Amino acid sequence: MLPGPGVVESMASRLAAAGCVAAGDEAAELVARAPDEGVLEAWLGRREGGEPLAWITGTVLFCGRPVGVDPGVYVPRPQTEGLARRAASLLPARGRAADLCTGAGAVAVHLMAAVPGALVAGTDVDESAVRCARRNGVDAVVGDVDGPLASGGFDLVAAVPPYVPTGELQFLPVDVRRYEPPLALDGGGDGLAVVRRVVAGAARLLRPGGWLLLEVGGSQDRLVEPWLASSGFGPGLAWRDDEGDLRGVAARLDA
Ligand code: GLN
Repeated sequence: MLPGPGVVESMASRLAAAGCVAAGDEAAELVARAPDEGVLEAWLGRREGGEPLAWITGTVLFCGRPVGVDPGVYVPRPQTEGLARRAASLLPARGRAADLCTGAGAVAVHLMAAVPGALVAGTDVDESAVRCARRNGVDAVVGDVDGPLASGGFDLVAAVPPYVPTGELQFLPVDVRRYEPPLALDGGGDGLAVVRRVVAGAARLLRPGGWLLLEVGGSQDRLVEPWLASSGFGPGLAWRDDEGDLRGVAARLDA
């Protein structure tokens, strides 16, 4: 839609008043994607109510590419792009990758685009996530962590599991708490209930020398380290964002 003068600005101030942090960018995106003024007003109302922008427009940019996100499906985060890019750089040209807890399939979509000769499979326990990932072109199956995939032969396993300790869910932004699926966020008492199974599952799926890239936060790298060692991985290599916050851990299965 081509906005009239001042439309984006007035929308941005409505969004800012509703507590939106990136009000200007979000207003511009709503205007750019809305087919007409009626839809734009309806979208604005939904966003003022806290619904994720990606559910309203049906899409999010991830690693510079639009990825479809159905309402109810965990929204791929910009802070996961580092994991996707690292994974792509470690995946051989004709390699095989598994994206566990794939959600909308954003990491898998990036791997497929960046390494077009590779075979990429995704899994998720949530059927609506798997439907969404398939619509994004990912060969995704419903199943728990590594459950649906055959052992060995994978060069790379990527995973963005739920890793927020149950007691810390209350500190997530109010919109995330109100709308996004707890299944994609709640990692149990220490936040690592699913992560633990991802480490064991990756050890089963990977060939010797294959890589696991795992999103975790806080100081969870230290908690994950002993399980990596006991599952046959080398030392965990953590990476951090510009603020110094932990964003993930990579580890290589011993050859
Ligand atoms: N802190 C993350 C977020 O809300 C948690 C994501 C997750 O558990 N997968 O973005």
